Amino acid sequence: KLVSKKWKAKPTSVDLGDGVFIKDGEMAIITGPCSIETEEQIRKVVAHCIENGIKMMRGGVFKPRSSPYAFRGLGLEGLKLWYEIASAAGIKIVTEVMQTSQIEEMYPYVDVYQVGARNSQNFNLLDELGKVDKAVMIKRGISGTIEELLQSAEYVFSGGNEKLILCERGIRTYERASRNTLDLNAIPILKAKSHLPVIVDPSHGIGIRSYVPQMALAGVMSGADGIMYESHEIPEKAYSDGQQTLDFAQSARLAAWIRESFAMR
Ligand code: PEP
Ligand code: MN
Repeated sequence: KLVSKKWKAKPTSVDLGDGVFIKDGEMAIITGPCSIETEEQIRKVVAHCIENGIKMMRGGVFKPRSSPYAFRGLGLEGLKLWYEIASAAGIKIVTEVMQTSQIEEMYPYVDVYQVGARNSQNFNLLDELGKVDKAVMIKRGISGTIEELLQSAEYVFSGGNEKLILCERGIRTYERASRNTLDLNAIPILKAKSHLPVIVDPSHGIGIRSYVPQMALAGVMSGADGIMYESHEIPEKAYSDGQQTLDFAQSARLAAWIRESFAMR
């Protein structure tokens, strides 16, 4: 496989421009709300990122919701607004693309196309993202194996797009005490098998706000190249995933802990 370390020993470095990288040997921090909600919210999160030296912001404008009646995102208009504010502040945008028709319209406004867990094996989408010259982050499928994640990455890489990032976001197991089971085993295994950078998402991984920091730090110590977690000024008022979202004080503390832990690794 092209994403295998046997084919390419040197770790892949994903360059987002302006000195922002997702790569082995660095610790990427990506934070922001589950959903992009309002202009005011975007401004507050961008300010929070700047205050804490965080250069990548996450947020969904196209949301894959389990219920069709839940908030499904601001769409392209929301992305344009977000881009205007974030790019002026030098913040990179990580956001989910749900279908092939969105790739082109999103292109000017996105730095990392996120492929969500539910689309992890949407092979048409992966094929099309293989033709794009912007970074792609593939999340592990809800019941996806490590091997399946690597095969999904192979679709994009073999299509010609080598700006690829893998993301462990928890898998569905028999355990119901947490939203998902964050598979920390996957990090050393992915790092050993593949040259691609690996990000851990402890927010979806455990799904419980007060346990997100320790799982984030466990992700750092397990060898991740970055942590992506959800944050919001008032998590209780978030349009989605508030139960697993940190407020800004918690997020600031976690970002510092992530950096300290990485320095000790
Ligand atoms: C998200 O990042 O908000 C998201 C929907 O994640 P996942 O695809 O991992 O469920
Ligand atoms: Mn979410």
